[in-house]
Amino acid sequence: MSAAGAGFAAYVVIGNPIAHSKSPAIHARFAADTAQDMHYAHLLAPLDGFAATVREFVAQGGRGANVTVPFKLEAYALASQLTSRAKAAGAVNTLTFEDGRILGDNTDGIGLVSDIVRNAGFDLAHKKILLLGAGGAARGVILPLLEGKPAQLVIANRTVAKAEELVQQFQPYCEQPGQPCILGACGFADVSQQFDLVINATSASLQAELPPLAGSIFSPATLAYDMMYGSQPTVFMQFAAAHGAQVRDGLGMLVEQAAEAFFVWRCVRPHTDAVFAALRAAL
Ligand code: NDP
Repeated sequence: MSAAGAGFAAYVVIGNPIAHSKSPAIHARFAADTAQDMHYAHLLAPLDGFAATVREFVAQGGRGANVTVPFKLEAYALASQLTSRAKAAGAVNTLTFEDGRILGDNTDGIGLVSDIVRNAGFDLAHKKILLLGAGGAARGVILPLLEGKPAQLVIANRTVAKAEELVQQFQPYCEQPGQPCILGACGFADVSQQFDLVINATSASLQAELPPLAGSIFSPATLAYDMMYGSQPTVFMQFAAAHGAQVRDGLGMLVEQAAEAFFVWRCVRPHTDAVFAALRAAL
């Protein structure tokens, strides 16, 4: 644990590995732009020492922490209180330390939705959405997507049973008055209709793989969004673009989830455009 050794930091991002994380640069820029007197650093936790690392940081006066791979489930278990979006996601990426309590939140889903709605100018209301994947990232975005009142949300996954479990979990959110939404689960091969928004929340892009999708699910009006980001379009983005779709990667989601965490901690909402542009230029 290195919070003291690296100079005191009131906020950290905890993970393993962690040196690659862009969060310290993002939060430093947010703090400068909003005149917040705060410090934010990397904090490497041993794979078997997440809770101990958090407790030591709290004992040193830490105010909050972002949590990344592989500790989001442990953060969920460690929190003494959870927001409704953290409960729905089943994972925590933002911890706030306050009066001896550990508050657990999840800003990944709202980060994705902010990027799609505000930055890409895509309104979710009455749209047909296809969500590819049923892992942690997919689960975290379902509630914020449903809150946008789409007409339909289909979850397609390689292991169909996992998509079906998510449909069961989130079905009650589709039965709210004024928010009728058809929620469904299937395998990739069963997806044949066209969608307005297709979100790739699988980790296939990490191995430059493509979920086996029909190109006919895309149209020129479709936004194809890959949660992964990099200097080049992912294979999913290339495939969707070749079938006429507009494409977007997950860099904006990264920046927006950070902005939401910053807001949770500091009650100030930072502007994200300049940070996004700087990160994009540095990729
Ligand atoms: P998980 O390991 O929890 O889930 C992985 C998902 O991908 C599962 O649904 C799995 O299917 C599916 N999958 C894995 N390999 C393949 C493949 N070759 N073909 C088809 N499906 C596959 O990962 P996460 O949910 O945590 O992360 C998913 C992605 O989201 C990653 O690329 C990650 O980088 C990105 N992400 C981006 C963020 C951002 O801020 N931009 C934030 C969080 C995540 P099965 O269930 O069958 O195993």
